[in-house]
Amino acid sequence: MTAELIDGIALSRTLRLDVAARAANLKAHGITPGLAVILVGENPASQVYVRNKVKACADAGLHSVLEQYPADLSEAELLKRIKFLNSDPAIHGILVQLPLPAHIDAQKVIEAIAPLKDVDGFHIASAGALMTGNSAFLPCTPYGCMKMLESIGYDLRGKHAVVIGRSNIVGKPMALLLLQKNATVTVCHSATANLKAMTLQADVIVAAVGKRNVLTADMVKPGAVVLDVGMNRTPDGKLCGDVDFDGIKEVASFITPVPGGVGPMTITMLLVNTLEAAERSAAP
Ligand code: NAP
Repeated sequence: MTAELIDGIALSRTLRLDVAARAANLKAHGITPGLAVILVGENPASQVYVRNKVKACADAGLHSVLEQYPADLSEAELLKRIKFLNSDPAIHGILVQLPLPAHIDAQKVIEAIAPLKDVDGFHIASAGALMTGNSAFLPCTPYGCMKMLESIGYDLRGKHAVVIGRSNIVGKPMALLLLQKNATVTVCHSATANLKAMTLQADVIVAAVGKRNVLTADMVKPGAVVLDVGMNRTPDGKLCGDVDFDGIKEVASFITPVPGGVGPMTITMLLVNTLEAAERSAAP
């Protein structure tokens, strides 16, 4: 079998057109959705990510401001800046690019963002809302993965989903979203005794580890759906995911590529969250 691709670029294009149309409608009512992106330090990967986010905003007709600070910015100064943005009516979403320099407490910074502007969905209020099944901002990467499953009409009810990785920003929220859709969910991590025994039972596998080839074809049940969140480099510097794409595409029914899979969807869902933050601010 050769798996069908779930194309994150094509799906993003469709979803971003919808964002642009809704943003234009808000603009006609005097509100331009606005995103503030804060970058502290000179991490090259972070610089690429924030540039992509700012460009995606512009393409969809959203207002964005990129605030760049030197790596020695104090925690107090960053918190002061967030406090200002929390009360800026032109800003509907605030994103602090992670990782932050070691002298800054990232959790404290995230908690300083007003929950109504937490478009990354990392605030404890957003995490709590997700946990209890209430609506708030969903973290963009798992949200994007769910949209990808939706795009292929995949019904998760009664299916076994295996999530590899348990971070607060990907693995855990991913597991909760799959559970909400009535999948039976197994969460694997670095202490999982026999990863292959788990993944071989899975109808859906989400790999969110950050290690090349953590999932290979012999670990995948024929016909499974494989979503690859990982972002790694091959020895010759090419971007790749966590899964052995060439091997697994012969076994899986659907697979996401890297690049062009979950990555663009993450940015798309950031646009959706920012737009929805603006729509909520406009609601009577
Ligand atoms: P993270 O915080 O480092 O978490 C990695 C998880 O993988 C941890 O839970 C860890 O287990 C687990 N793990 C490590 N080695 C393992 C192994 N051999 N077998 C099973 N599990 C293992 O990373 P993250 O922030 O969740 O990100 C994961 C990957 O996704 C990274 O490559 C990141 O760059 C990428 N990412 C991509 C996007 C996108 O838009 N495409 C967005 C976010 C992240 P422990 O908890 O036991 O340590």
